Amino acid sequence: MLDITSLIELLAQPKRIVITTHHKPDGDAIGSSLGLYNYLIQQGHHAKVITPTDYPEYFNWMPGNGEVIIYTENIKESTESIADAEIIFCLDFNTLSRINEMGELVRKSNAIKVLIDHHLEPEDFDDYRCWDINACATAQLVYKFIVEELNNKKLINKDVAACLYTGILTDSASFALPNTTSAVHRITADLIDAGAVNWRIYDLVYNNSSEDRLRFLGICLCCRLEVLYDFNTAIITVSKQDIEKYNIGTGETEGIVNYALSVSGIRLAAFIVERDEKVKLSLRSKGEFPANDICKKYFNGGGHRNAAGGSSTDSLEQVINQFKLILPEYKKLLIQ
Ligand code: 5GP
Ligand code: MN
Repeated sequence: MLDITSLIELLAQPKRIVITTHHKPDGDAIGSSLGLYNYLIQQGHHAKVITPTDYPEYFNWMPGNGEVIIYTENIKESTESIADAEIIFCLDFNTLSRINEMGELVRKSNAIKVLIDHHLEPEDFDDYRCWDINACATAQLVYKFIVEELNNKKLINKDVAACLYTGILTDSASFALPNTTSAVHRITADLIDAGAVNWRIYDLVYNNSSEDRLRFLGICLCCRLEVLYDFNTAIITVSKQDIEKYNIGTGETEGIVNYALSVSGIRLAAFIVERDEKVKLSLRSKGEFPANDICKKYFNGGGHRNAAGGSSTDSLEQVINQFKLILPEYKKLLIQ
């Protein structure tokens, strides 16, 4: 492990830096990555953000977005950049499997690896770690890294601020989750003072849906929602045909699971979607219910207690049935 003094020394001269984040990046993944990117380029570093897959267009407004390299669309350049990097920042994930084929490239690289993340149980591949599972977003930790660890608050300019604000806004479900502490609000206040235009960012992220996506949401709510009152559980299940009919792209189903959780009395919600060769599950829960436990035990996944995900190679129908069969095991926790 590297200490902060050595890392500061390393960053004192321009370096070749790669910043990467988990596949199907969400607002926190892209926001924290571009926030760090906009910080590093001010110091003359040659920084590149490389994402394992593409991500929704409603994040394209973010400063630096035009420079992002998408691995699946630029495998050669991505591979060379990772091999050539002196420092690799790994943001918003902590197991290399979360960055698909890029994982082994990062593992093999001789670069110093810096992990900034808020997920449980990090894999041991990093040289420096800024990690806190209580943080509401990785963007919050990037702020802490810049301000408290690198002591460089003056470099939080309006571009850095806008990106980090987006990460906190989206990962805290618009400041609604229990980990949105007073400290988080103080950070977002700082970011607004530094130039993040909070109301405009909200508009860009949340009022930027395609007509197709809005109609797809309508179908999910009226025809694909099933409420299992005996288990205080609600599920939304979506087939490949639905996805194709409404042209639903990467990340565009993000947040739909929260509508299932918004039914009064519901403690567990699942969004189950048939994607390419896999069925993907997104779980959300209230209070102490361990959504990550279900994902870990049955669906090759994991995550946080109240927000977790996993996948299966079984058919959509099989996964829905399996999910329903699991519920009795958790009945006590669900109906208390
Ligand atoms: P989402 O439902 O938004 O895809 O994921 C919710 C949370 O669960 C994310 O914070 C992510 O860390 C975690 N998660 C989602 N899919 C997986 C997975 O396949 N494996 C692991 N370990 N975590 C996942
Ligand atoms: Mn996050």
